[in-house]
Amino acid sequence: MRAFVLTAPGCYEVREVQAPVPAAGEVVVDVERAGVCGTDMEFFTGEMAYLHQGHSSFPMRLGHEWSGRVAAVGAGVDPAWTGRRVMGDTMLGCGTCRRCRRGHRHVCQRRQEVGVRDGRPGALAEQLAVPVSSLHALPDTVDAVLGALVEPGGNALRAAQAADPAPGDRVLVLGPGTIGVLVAMFARAAGAEVHLMGNNEASLAFSGALGFAHVWCEDTLPELPFDAVIDASNAAQLPSLALDLVEPGGRVVYIGLAGEPSRIDTRTLALKDVTAVGILSASPGLDATIRAYADGSVDPRPLVAATVGLGQVGAVLAGRRPPGAGPGPKIHIDPRLER
Ligand SMILES: [Zn+2]
Ligand SMILES: [Zn+2]
Repeated sequence: MRAFVLTAPGCYEVREVQAPVPAAGEVVVDVERAGVCGTDMEFFTGEMAYLHQGHSSFPMRLGHEWSGRVAAVGAGVDPAWTGRRVMGDTMLGCGTCRRCRRGHRHVCQRRQEVGVRDGRPGALAEQLAVPVSSLHALPDTVDAVLGALVEPGGNALRAAQAADPAPGDRVLVLGPGTIGVLVAMFARAAGAEVHLMGNNEASLAFSGALGFAHVWCEDTLPELPFDAVIDASNAAQLPSLALDLVEPGGRVVYIGLAGEPSRIDTRTLALKDVTAVGILSASPGLDATIRAYADGSVDPRPLVAATVGLGQVGAVLAGRRPPGAGPGPKIHIDPRLER
């Protein structure tokens, strides 16, 4: 089968590789859609922290936001999975340690992450193998495009839930990229008055086109009481700005990651009686995200700017927009396309 292989920072090829065979407890999936995101771009540049911590090494097979159809099952797997449309959890905990037993498999010290960590091949290929325990079945109303948006959506849903807005509460999202816009969509679905702040004119205009009326840059941000502030940016100074901007008694949520330490003053946190929450991964939010897409309360489809074949992945990871791409922040890969 064909797979996109990243051999070193900036070096890649689409090559023929051994098709996966399902091990015991695993399935092989025909990939229908896979998204690429900032994490993949950090592997492409070589900046991703896991490369420097020994959790990941080249050559790499990327792709952790995907949907597809089960093609084969391994020993011990219910054959009824065959043919089912699915997406999968990126985080594969060991299943036996204290954290896994307490339901925190996504922070298991020995975890693999599909297409990200510990050599587990990802979905930028015609097929991938994953444990059946990581699968989430997709209803008919969640097509392949929506299915590949469940993983980023689950991250965003958890961030919006951590902000815990009551209807009418004012929520500010910093960083209107894929995750930020998805957070805004989930917060809006919860009844919040959503504001977005960014520094890129095109992404702010895109947020406006999605119906978000309160879109600002740092200079124009109005002085309003924000009941919750969610940092979905990669700017090192915005986590502390989030804490400065939030109302006393409110909540700050940190889902963005900067390339350098982003510090906050815990005196401000204590003196303002603020609750701070960090979010890693979609895992506990995947089912609720599938339900929100299925019932239409959140429709992330406009985020997808273009869908291309494996041959275009390198250019996309290098930051080039495919010809004719729409205004959204997300590029999808369909490995069945010729180019
Ligand atoms: Zn991602
Ligand atoms: Zn574990």
